[in-house]
Amino acid sequence: MSLDDINEQSPWEQSRSAQMAAAVDAARRAATIPRYQKDWSAQGISSRDVNPGTWDAVPFLTKDKLLEAARESPPYGDRLGVPRDQVAHAFAAPGPLYMPFTKHDMDRIAGSFAKALASCGLSRGDLVDQTTMYNWVIAATVLDRALEKIGCGIVPGGVGQSDRHIEVIEHLGVNGIVAFPTFLEHLLAQAATEGRRLPLRKAAVMGELHDPRTKSRIHAAHGVAVREFYGTADVGAVAWECAAGNGMHLRDDLLVEFVPPGQSGAVQPETGTPVELVVTDLHRQAMPIIRLRTGDLIDGLSNGPCSCGRTAPRFRRIVGRAGEITKVKGMFVVPRLVVDVMQKENLERPFRLIVERSDGGIDNLTLEVAGAPYPDPVDFQAKVEAALRIRLALKFTPELPEGTARLVDRRFQA
Ligand SMILES: [Zn+2]
Repeated sequence: MSLDDINEQSPWEQSRSAQMAAAVDAARRAATIPRYQKDWSAQGISSRDVNPGTWDAVPFLTKDKLLEAARESPPYGDRLGVPRDQVAHAFAAPGPLYMPFTKHDMDRIAGSFAKALASCGLSRGDLVDQTTMYNWVIAATVLDRALEKIGCGIVPGGVGQSDRHIEVIEHLGVNGIVAFPTFLEHLLAQAATEGRRLPLRKAAVMGELHDPRTKSRIHAAHGVAVREFYGTADVGAVAWECAAGNGMHLRDDLLVEFVPPGQSGAVQPETGTPVELVVTDLHRQAMPIIRLRTGDLIDGLSNGPCSCGRTAPRFRRIVGRAGEITKVKGMFVVPRLVVDVMQKENLERPFRLIVERSDGGIDNLTLEVAGAPYPDPVDFQAKVEAALRIRLALKFTPELPEGTARLVDRRFQA
């Protein structure tokens, strides 16, 4: 079974074996590139050793490894998989980390986002304000191409300048938008404050929605249907919602694996247990991406049939970043669940969870919330404890500095 034989309706088992076969091919190609060769041989792996049965032994790639290599051997960290004159686009991320793509790479990645945006409801004839960044990074360049593939008209608005966005959306009758959810909410709220009703009807939002109820709230208040997609700059779209609206389906021509925080082996995700998404690009030529740890965590995968006909399993949302989640007394502590309780109770404030180990070796969890005590702190504490399934101490502190980490694990600090 090869990737050419599968589509979004193929039995998922077939798609999975086609993905694995293509991933093995991609890894063997990558193994001929100097930096992969060096990293893998340090762990005793060569291209000959890579097959579906030994896949777990293929080392993970991380952003840190990419950065380290780029600093040692600029600009591409000895990971360039094609002659330099085949680099059609080079993007510049902080670090500095330069990301090369061939024409074929750009086309594949644009194709993945076209599937994502179409599944999010954008279709031929829509006029779409594209509000992600146009300079240096891949986002806008590739999303524009995705919209072109669908047959949408494009308004290249880019980042910021909400006054101008509102004006242009109104004048041109823009009915679709690609945006981060916070920017979309900001635009709609600003327009509403000014007493203007925008012609927007469809929104494809990326990145994590902070509150799963945002979508229905935006639809009720502004008449905009919001669907979500998730992707990375390295491999393109990874998952996207469909009209059924009960989670984001995994992309069928990408290998996605799931690794629990702090562990090194891939597992089958279970509900309530956070796992990190690890992706292998099956096509990338200019800089192959093999087993990249995205740092993004999900908390379970649903395999049931979907009314849209897609067979790919789906996840509900990104619950946090690796390093933001830890285990206390055998339970995963997910700061996101505290946010959920705060939002539900309309008690949203900055907070942090602190894990400490007593001299007797017992782990204790404290939730520190900025500001004066809530009117009913006992009730709030009980709700957080129920959500996290762990007992904790609740403290209020006058303020927490901007950008405070939501999880502080003091157990392993020297
Ligand atoms: Zn579906």
